[in-house]
Amino acid sequence: MKSPDPRPGILDIKPYRGGVSDAPGFDAPIKLSSNENCFGCSPDASAAMTKALASAERYPDGGVTLLREAIAKTYDLPADRLVCGCGSDELLQLLGKAYLRDGDEVLHAQNGFLTYKLIALQNCAVPIAAPETNLCIDADAFLSKVSARTRMVFLANPNNPTGFLMPRKEVRKLHAGLPKDVLLVIDGAYAEFVRDDDYEGGFALVNSHDNVVATRTFSKSYGLAGLRVGWAYCPKTVAAVLNRVRSPFNVNAVAQSAAIAALGDTDFLNKSVDHVAKWAPKIEAEVKKLGLKAFPSAGNFVLIGLSTPEEADALEQFLSARGLIIRGMRGFGLPGYVRMSVGTDEDNKAVIAAISDFIRQ
Ligand SMILES: *Cc1c(COP(=O)(O)O)cnc(C)c1O
Repeated sequence: MKSPDPRPGILDIKPYRGGVSDAPGFDAPIKLSSNENCFGCSPDASAAMTKALASAERYPDGGVTLLREAIAKTYDLPADRLVCGCGSDELLQLLGKAYLRDGDEVLHAQNGFLTYKLIALQNCAVPIAAPETNLCIDADAFLSKVSARTRMVFLANPNNPTGFLMPRKEVRKLHAGLPKDVLLVIDGAYAEFVRDDDYEGGFALVNSHDNVVATRTFSKSYGLAGLRVGWAYCPKTVAAVLNRVRSPFNVNAVAQSAAIAALGDTDFLNKSVDHVAKWAPKIEAEVKKLGLKAFPSAGNFVLIGLSTPEEADALEQFLSARGLIIRGMRGFGLPGYVRMSVGTDEDNKAVIAAISDFIRQ
């Protein structure tokens, strides 16, 4: 019997699975598995959502004009080179769809964000991992893997799940070492959390080169993951491409209104960012005191290393039985690790206390 066949390679893709959101036996478990904002979102954004719902019969502005203007003002960028998406994930997908050809190579860090590999496979391209050393990576590690077939390089800075921040000098060196026809995508999903003056979010590179795109999101620091809004700052040529391949109404009206309001509430953003700046190093230190490995993180999460994959699974289970959901990293190719998002004061203390009990048992 004949049946419709997808393109070669599609069925080899392991579908992306988000963080678990339930803990059996708990109505309201503490979910620290997807790097969401533990304070929710700005009350102004909530009010804007409710208001926008009243006009749900209308199509949204397909050009996302007001939101792009608000982003332009907040980040001091030209609005005509911003493209918004259904999460930054959609923009990453669209870049793959528009630029990759069969057999092209897509470079990503060994423990980079999982999506990059999927994007390569979805487009019949070949994902190539650049080697990390102790979960860190530098420009040379990427450049050592560049070949004549390299078409795109994805760099999450800070990286998820390692939390590693690549210094500006290295990002510049990476870009300088790439052929001019290779697109460097700098994914700044956690950019707002970075305090380091040495941060390269990519905007300056986009200003001066045609082969760099910087993506951002409202999902993490702004707490709007459920609404799906992200954006990309692009060279003119890339913006023109993205506007041809995106669907006409890819950012819904509720999301557009909420994101505009979120940008206006700097108090909420600062509160979120300050909280993470206080807790990420504290969680790292506490976990290390308990004898586990933990990595310095520039994002709103901490990667924790156990001695074996089985021990990591057991910790995930142990916490789940207490209504605490963190994320085992098997699916990320790091079986001996778990990742916890920064939660509220109480959440973090509960997890640390539970890890301590786990170790003593
Ligand atoms: C969460 C995350 C994203 C996706 O964000 P959305 O805007 O919600 O699609 C992209 N990149 C990294 C590294 C992330 O951790």
